Amino acid sequence: MLLRGGRVVDVDGDRTADLRVGSDGRVAGLAAGIVPAPGEEVVDAAGLLVVPGGVDAHTHLQLPVGRVRVSDDFASGTAAAAVGGTTTVIDYVTAYRGEDPLSALATWRRWVEEAAVDVGLHMTFTEAVPESTVAACVELGVTSFKLYMAYPETLQVDDGVILDVMRAAGRHGGLVTVHAENGSAIEALRRQALSEGRTGVVEHSLTRPALLEGEAVARAGVLAELAGTPVYIVHVSSAPALAAVRAARERGVDMMAETCPQYLHLSGSELTGPGAADFVCTPPLRDPWHQEELWQGLADGSVHTVATDHCPFTTADRRSGLRGRVTGWRDFTEIPGGLPGIETRMALVWEGVTDGRIGVADWVRLCSEAPARTFGLWPQKGSLRPGTDADVVVWDPDAVQALDAPALHMRTDHSPYAGRRARGWPRLVLSRGRVVARAGSFVGEVGWGRYLARRARDGAHG
Ligand SMILES: [Zn+2]
Repeated sequence: MLLRGGRVVDVDGDRTADLRVGSDGRVAGLAAGIVPAPGEEVVDAAGLLVVPGGVDAHTHLQLPVGRVRVSDDFASGTAAAAVGGTTTVIDYVTAYRGEDPLSALATWRRWVEEAAVDVGLHMTFTEAVPESTVAACVELGVTSFKLYMAYPETLQVDDGVILDVMRAAGRHGGLVTVHAENGSAIEALRRQALSEGRTGVVEHSLTRPALLEGEAVARAGVLAELAGTPVYIVHVSSAPALAAVRAARERGVDMMAETCPQYLHLSGSELTGPGAADFVCTPPLRDPWHQEELWQGLADGSVHTVATDHCPFTTADRRSGLRGRVTGWRDFTEIPGGLPGIETRMALVWEGVTDGRIGVADWVRLCSEAPARTFGLWPQKGSLRPGTDADVVVWDPDAVQALDAPALHMRTDHSPYAGRRARGWPRLVLSRGRVVARAGSFVGEVGWGRYLARRARDGAHG
C-alpha cells in the first residue's frame, strides 16, 4: 500500500511525502515521489496528516475493582483504541496483596491474546517484593513498575517500599511509575467527611486536594533522587503537582510526567448534579484554571506524555458501587473511580493543536513518540522510519466526530464528553500494515494484536 502525498509528521520532520507499507507489515519507504508498483493499492493522502500510530501508556482493561470490573476487555478496548488512532496500548497488570505478581502477569498475558492492536504490560506492586521478582518481570518484557502512594486499604505502599523498588528497578533497567497522592492524609479527610455526614459525590474531590498531589510528587522526586533513578508520575492533574515536577527537574531529578485528556478538558463542576458519579476519577477533576497550567506544561515540555488512565464502568456498576449493593452506593468512598478515554485521546489532544496551544509535532511527540521511547518500544513504535512497524494513522483534520457514547466503541453507556464534537479524527488506521479502522469504524480483528516485550533501559546492570 502506498499512502501518497500526505503531510508526514514524526520525529524526523514535517514534510509532504509518500509512505509505502511493505507486505511484511513494516514501513518500506518514506520519500517524495515514490512510484506505485504494479497492483499496489494507492491511498490519496493529500490534505491529510500521516503520523505514527498513537501509544497509550496507561490503561486498565478487564481489571477487577472491588465487586465490579472495568467494562472494556482487551478485545473491545483495543478495538476502540484503533478507531481513535491508538495502535499500541500499555496496560497495568495489578497484583493485589497476597497475589503472586508473576501469576497475575500470566493472567494478563492470556487476556492480551484477544487484543486487536499490540499491547505491552506494566506491573503494579501493592506490597514489598524480592528483587528477583523485578528481575523476572524485566526478563519477560515488563520493564516498568507502578507504585501507589494512595489507597492505603488496597494499593498503597510506604516510602521504604518505593525506595527499595526504585533501587531494584534501577539495577535491572526498569522504570518506576508513581500514582502520587498522599493517601494517608486523604484517608483522614475521608474519615472526617463521613463522620460529619458529608457523603455526596463532590466529597470525592474535596477529600483529595491538589495540595496532597503536589506533596506526593515532591516526595516521589526526593525518593528517586536518593535512589539515583528516573521516575515517571502518572496522571498529573493539578498545578501544584506540575510545580513539583518542575522543581524536581530543575534540581536534576530525571522526572517524567504524564497527564490525561480529562484533566485538560473537564473540571470539578461536573461533580455536582444527577450524573456526577459518572465523573468520579482519581486524582479528581480540578478547578478549570489547572487545565491552563497543564496545557502550558505540554507546550513547554514539563509534561512528557498524554495517556488516558482508561478505566470505564457501566452506569449500573457505578451505581452498585465497589461493594456491589443492589440499593446503590451509600457514600462517595464506594463509587468506582475511572473514566473511558482510550478512543478519544488523540482527538482531545488534537484540540490543543486547533486551539493553537501546542504544535502538530508536539501532538505526535506527546501521544506517540515520547511514550514509545519512555517505555522501551521506540523506534518500533512511535516512528515512521523504514523498517519499523507500519502502525500509521492517516488523520483527517476536518473530520467531525460526535463524542457521545453511542457514537463511540468503548463498552460503556456514558461518555464524559457527551454533547461535544471533535474536529479531527482518523481516516485510516494501520496496525503492522493491516487496516484496522476506517473513518470511525473498526475493521480489524480480535486476536490480531501481539504482546510487546519491552526493552530495559540503557545503562542497566543486572
Ligand atoms: Zn491508572
